[in-house]
Amino acid sequence: MDDADRAQHVSDQIVERIMAQARALNAAPPVDRPGPRICIDCPDHIEAARLAANPGALRCTPCQAEAEAARRGAAA
Ligand SMILES: [Zn+2]
Repeated sequence: MDDADRAQHVSDQIVERIMAQARALNAAPPVDRPGPRICIDCPDHIEAARLAANPGALRCTPCQAEAEAARRGAAA
């Protein structure tokens, strides 16, 4: 094995390690993928049915009702 072979071998190992890290990252669910999401106002998950109806929902149903009531109260 000459120096060029050794260098090639080392760079192959580095590429392999980076690819393994990229695969691990791809396996982790991205934050913007639909799935269980946490309410911004409490530690509860936002209900799946609520997310299905409104994928942009930020709060669970009770917190959303509370926020809307507060907004109505502030507007009135
Ligand atoms: Zn909530």
